[in-house]
Amino acid sequence: ADKKETRGFEAEVSKLLHLMIHSMYSNPEIFLRELVSNASDAADKLRFEALSKPELLGDDSELGIWISVDPEAKTLTLRDNGIGMSRDEVVANLGTIARSGTSEFMKNLSGDEKKDSQLIGQFGVGFYSAFVAAERVVLTTRRADAASHEAVRWESEGTGEFTVESIEQAERGTSITLHLRESAQEFAEAFRVRSIINKYAEHIALPVHLLQKAEKDDEADSWEVVNQAKALWTRPRTEVSDEDYQAFYKHVGHDYENPLSWSHNKVEGKLEYTSLLFVPGRAPFDLYQRDGARGLKLYVQRVFIRDDAEQFLPLYLRFIKGIVDSNDLPLNVSRELLQSSDIIDSMKAALTKRSLDMLSKLAGDPEKYATFYAAFGQVLKEGLAEDFANKDKIAGLLRFASSTTGEGKAEVSLADYIGRMKEGQDTIYYVTAENYVTAANSPHLELFRKKGVEVLLLTDRIDEWMMSHLTEFDGKKFQHIGKGEVDLSAIAGEGNEPEVSEADTKQAEALVERLQKALSERVKSVRTTTRLSESPTCLVLDSFDPGFQMRQLMEAAGQ
Ligand code: ADP
Ligand code: MG
Repeated sequence: ADKKETRGFEAEVSKLLHLMIHSMYSNPEIFLRELVSNASDAADKLRFEALSKPELLGDDSELGIWISVDPEAKTLTLRDNGIGMSRDEVVANLGTIARSGTSEFMKNLSGDEKKDSQLIGQFGVGFYSAFVAAERVVLTTRRADAASHEAVRWESEGTGEFTVESIEQAERGTSITLHLRESAQEFAEAFRVRSIINKYAEHIALPVHLLQKAEKDDEADSWEVVNQAKALWTRPRTEVSDEDYQAFYKHVGHDYENPLSWSHNKVEGKLEYTSLLFVPGRAPFDLYQRDGARGLKLYVQRVFIRDDAEQFLPLYLRFIKGIVDSNDLPLNVSRELLQSSDIIDSMKAALTKRSLDMLSKLAGDPEKYATFYAAFGQVLKEGLAEDFANKDKIAGLLRFASSTTGEGKAEVSLADYIGRMKEGQDTIYYVTAENYVTAANSPHLELFRKKGVEVLLLTDRIDEWMMSHLTEFDGKKFQHIGKGEVDLSAIAGEGNEPEVSEADTKQAEALVERLQKALSERVKSVRTTTRLSESPTCLVLDSFDPGFQMRQLMEAAGQ
């Protein structure tokens, strides 16, 4: 197996590479951020493995990244002395896309380059972004626990194939050389690379060294460290710039856009930990996949322990990204301990509260909040069933379309609604429907319109299910206006007690009887009503009947 092999990329990689090159041409420098980010992850992983196998560090225990350019050869090289990769890992990591749900995601691509380029953003760009700047990439790597003759050389032009062969390499870690495209020669210029690296290195906890060319022939080139190399979350908030927070988010969130907001907190007392939580601006492709990536990056006393630690936040906050660094957990924290421990339980409760507070604060900026809500509002709704203790807080974060705002945008909060209630009104009224147009034209709304009483219009697939978990807010009960008896007589205003003469009543009785007979197979009963003023009839559900959405969900589930 140590012979040189030529292998094809998985079809998905080729597709992704193609799209990436098209979507990133206007911002090619991003590849540097991705490669620095990977080197930092590789150092984290080595430190973690060295906890139980200190010999892995050997006499090369100063972890770092070294970056150099060669304008004549038109190359840029990044080296790290992190964990490195075995031959199998190279083939798996740099020949396929290992993330679950990838093929599902790829099916959603339309073939329209513009649209698809945006989707790629949800996926994260990663290592393959090197090909945005490089026409050929050569990577050599030796895993920390492998012998020097077990190192690997990987090479590709990013067009469909790559080669792998086993080689000798004395040092541990990974070195990546980019042979730059004609259009990307700027990345072979030291001053250009330095200015980019300054931007992308400050939040990295690892020293980033840049090669300084000697000015005179008789001097040697020298390495210069360009960042503080201190874990960003250990620095006081006042010393971290917004740009650094944003760059850090892109590193931990695998996103290339900025987050909507963040919350950085150091907790001292019975428990000691630091958390740095982010609200992304868009949903990742696997948000609704059962095995999608979720959770925080866990550190214990600054040492990276694992990605995707799901134990620190409830499922309905799975969109939150960030890190938590504990001083109380042991460095050899096991999966079992993470699953059941008082420390984890109280951290989870506190981080949940922290996240919800961050969202309440974000709601103060309606534009950003609308972006958040469009991406994650549905997921938040799951919280009403999942997190009883925080039900009110979650309900307060919900936004609805309403019969009085008239635009179909989910922008009315329950507090807004209550603030606009009519004199004598003590119930929050809502209606559910397939979509906004159906809801807004519901005959059930007629009486409410007449009386000027606002009705929330719920059109998400999960809204009926959600309302089975949300029965009260701020002491006010909810009522579906298409279910059971609706009594607005206590509310001041027009539309009360329509006058009905005896003759009308008689006539109606006869009609009701005939309709009852004719429809006996299809409806439970036929009644006269004062709730309509324009439509002649409407369908009403009994108070405890499942609604239309619920019926559909139940049918879909085969019930
Ligand atoms: P991600 O970082 O999101 O996992 P990437 O495409 O950036 O995705 O990298 C793919 C994988 O390749 C990484 O998860 C890692 O296992 C491996 N890898 C990339 N760069 C390095 C490196 N410098 N050292 C060790 N492993 C690396
Ligand atoms: Mg990466």
